[in-house]
Amino acid sequence: MKRTLCFLNMKKVVSLLLVGILLFSSVKPAGANFIGTIVGWYKGSVERIKETELDNANKAFSHGVLRYVIRKVQRLYLSCYHAITRRSPAAIPMENIVKHFDKMVTGQAKTKKILAAAGSNHYKKISAKNGVKLQKNNVLILGPTGSGKTFLAQTMAEFLNLPFVIADSIAILYGGDSIENILERLIKNSGGDVKLAEKGIIFLDEVDKLAEYKPAQKRFLKPLEGTDVHFECIEKERDLLSDQLLPVRQTVNTSNILFVCSGAFVGLENIIKRRTNNADATLSEVSTEDLIAFGFLPEFVGRMPIVSTLDPLSASDLVTILTKPKNCLVKQYQELCACDNVELEFEEEALDKIAEKAIKKQLGARGLVSVLEDFMKDVFYKISTDRSVRKCIITAESVEKGESPMFEYGPPPSESFWQKLTHRLGFNHNDR
Ligand code: ADP
Repeated sequence: MKRTLCFLNMKKVVSLLLVGILLFSSVKPAGANFIGTIVGWYKGSVERIKETELDNANKAFSHGVLRYVIRKVQRLYLSCYHAITRRSPAAIPMENIVKHFDKMVTGQAKTKKILAAAGSNHYKKISAKNGVKLQKNNVLILGPTGSGKTFLAQTMAEFLNLPFVIADSIAILYGGDSIENILERLIKNSGGDVKLAEKGIIFLDEVDKLAEYKPAQKRFLKPLEGTDVHFECIEKERDLLSDQLLPVRQTVNTSNILFVCSGAFVGLENIIKRRTNNADATLSEVSTEDLIAFGFLPEFVGRMPIVSTLDPLSASDLVTILTKPKNCLVKQYQELCACDNVELEFEEEALDKIAEKAIKKQLGARGLVSVLEDFMKDVFYKISTDRSVRKCIITAESVEKGESPMFEYGPPPSESFWQKLTHRLGFNHNDR
């Protein structure tokens, strides 16, 4: 299937190239004369246009035709490339998405399933071929900051191999961003392939901030549902006559673009508590009427039929985030110290203390970096000034009370042959 597709596209590329060359060689003089005449007319001259003008027009025409052919070939190459590299648009089982989430994201089991179902159905929708138009079901994720809302959506888009863009509702609110700009970025993230962008995912962050301003919600009603959005793209085309750059008109249909909206919804819990008459009610009990009472238009809420909530991350979740993922923070700091030939070790109690401190900051996983930076800045200073440090052990006391971590000293490790060679050649970045 892929091969046939690729072959067909290759045929298109070759025939288009041939047509382009033929067109270029046959119509170039005629085109140049035509444009030359227009230039002459434009300048109000009834006499024969000057040779230099004809020459300029000639050049501009060649330029234009070449650019057109190159652009078409580029587009065909892209669709060819995507047909080969992108996963075939068959169904992607929910189970596979959940398994991928489990590898990357800690906790949040309920939202993993809900997002996996939304992602799997989105994939079915964009690949539906039998003429049945499947309804689009945008998603709303509610949860505290740093609990993984963006991370989940990003992980899903990566797994589905679909273009993804993050939009900030605060920027939309203050006029710094718009649906047109967002779609333009989505096209850019699709490598310029508009058809691919029309199947992508838009992550609308901090959507709760739009509750304050109904006109901004109204502007998003149609794009959320599916409409043609027309705008002028930053990508420019060269004008044949004036040799100036002109913006390109672009139309994107949003019917197959999945919107994942998210926010912390501070204050929504109180609305839920009042409605349920239960002082212990949490965000997970949210209903449509709570969102409307929060400030959303019923039409806006109605366009996000899938709602899920994230739990605040527990201390043990934070320890897992610190130590388990492939690119976890502990490994990142160990790598930074290794550049100074120092081994970095964290005591288990120290990891617990870091998690506890991060929870107090109420920033979720984002709090981990600020806690780590609190004491790691002194470690970095020490190992960059005292070259005899070989090992640093982060203890619970160093995290909790700001005491100095334990340091072990020794001679610098002897250099291997390759290290000596790269050192001599000046390639050694770890040179202390
Ligand atoms: P928010 O909920 O505010 O959108 P993010 O998803 O942007 O938070 O999380 C910030 C960072 O914290 C992520 O890039 C990720 O590294 C880490 N993180 C947050 N939640 C999780 C989680 N549940 N599992 C693993 N890492 C997480």
